[in-house]
Amino acid sequence: MTMDTVITGARVVTPGGIVNADVGIATGRIASMALPGTLTDATETIDAAGLTLVPGFIDVHSHHREPGFTHKEDIASATAACAAGGVTTTFAMPNVYPPPNTVDVLDDMFRLYERSAVVNWNVNPAGTILEEIPKLARRGIAAFKVFMVVDTGRDYPHMPGIGVHDHGRLLAIMEACAAAGVPLMVHPHDQALMDHIEQGFWDRGERDALAYAKAYAAHDGLIWDSAIGTLLRMQAATGVHLHLLHVQTAGSIDMIRRAKARGQHVTAEINPWALFLGHKWENIERLGSYALSYWVPEQHTPHLWEGLRDGTVDVISTDHAPHTREEKEVGWEDGWKAHTGTPSTQFYARMMFDAAHRGELRLERVVELCATAPARRFHLDGKGEIAIGADADLVLVDTERTTTITDDEVLSKIGYTPYAGQTYTGLPVRTLVAGKTVFHDGVVTGAPGGGTQSRRRSTT
Ligand SMILES: [Zn+2]
Repeated sequence: MTMDTVITGARVVTPGGIVNADVGIATGRIASMALPGTLTDATETIDAAGLTLVPGFIDVHSHHREPGFTHKEDIASATAACAAGGVTTTFAMPNVYPPPNTVDVLDDMFRLYERSAVVNWNVNPAGTILEEIPKLARRGIAAFKVFMVVDTGRDYPHMPGIGVHDHGRLLAIMEACAAAGVPLMVHPHDQALMDHIEQGFWDRGERDALAYAKAYAAHDGLIWDSAIGTLLRMQAATGVHLHLLHVQTAGSIDMIRRAKARGQHVTAEINPWALFLGHKWENIERLGSYALSYWVPEQHTPHLWEGLRDGTVDVISTDHAPHTREEKEVGWEDGWKAHTGTPSTQFYARMMFDAAHRGELRLERVVELCATAPARRFHLDGKGEIAIGADADLVLVDTERTTTITDDEVLSKIGYTPYAGQTYTGLPVRTLVAGKTVFHDGVVTGAPGGGTQSRRRSTT
């Protein structure tokens, strides 16, 4: 059989381990895996000697800003950044305008992705309208999303239509998601505790980005742990697949570990900013709001890595959240006015391969966290692994190449990255989506509209 493409000479990370193999691709899928040098009949041959072939990263949590906030980012720019960063599937979050909390709005968003996405995609709609949940669930979505946070002092990124902090309503949403057989992703937050904590800072005249960082981390992560304790208890009551977003405290890791030991259907993610940016106070001092997503005080960090190693945490997703310089600059005066969130989709693969290079995680575990587990936990058949029959969403990585991130490389519309100046070993050099090269030699070659929806297999 003539292959469309053969990737030859690479070290291949498979679910069964790391092997040296030629990988043959036909009609967008992996059609053959064979001993090195034995697959020769192909239209295109990619010589990958010295490189490592991994499944494309699957990011289940990303903010693409379209529609409504395209001055920050749009689907074309976000997914171009994905291609350059080795991300072959990216899931959008619902804090866009109008927010996708009805089937009509979601379908309109799907049309935007069909037109503009360079890589594969899906959308996590807001599960805030109960009667829409069963209808939205039939659109091949992977999960619903709810924010427990409502912004104070600004109206973005956590605006009306996507937030729920009333526990009764949240319980009803969990029941509806459980009945629909679709996971619920939650941004954990305890609004009543936060109201009190931030009032204390404001009363003392502390309003800058550093105060904001301290407020969210107050009392050793009280707002996070309180929310996660409540969510886990409600999960037990409803049986919903609960996916906890941006886990960042030792206390939360401990609670999730125990919930899993009890057999609860809970999964969790950690984001790159918690491990590589917000984990150092010096970054917060130097960059202010530019470094905030959130501050993760150093006593928590070893627990996050341990959670990643021992399986308490299932996935790494980015929480890619671009905001303009203007929207960040205001944070030096008032951290509550600056928009929260940091971009990362283009660069987190470098960070994760660097973690493997340093021995913090095994390479196989990095692949599991960033590709295999997201596919399995969210039932994306054919994704997240290198195996015969799987989709040929693939990334070639130079695991020995050391690079320093610069603003010049940034493909996000905002044109900067808070990771500028950071040096990592491990670089995605080529990305394929459905067997077609979408990024190579520093250039995005994939066209808008080249991606397809990564649909969840129905489990009901
Ligand atoms: Zn987010």
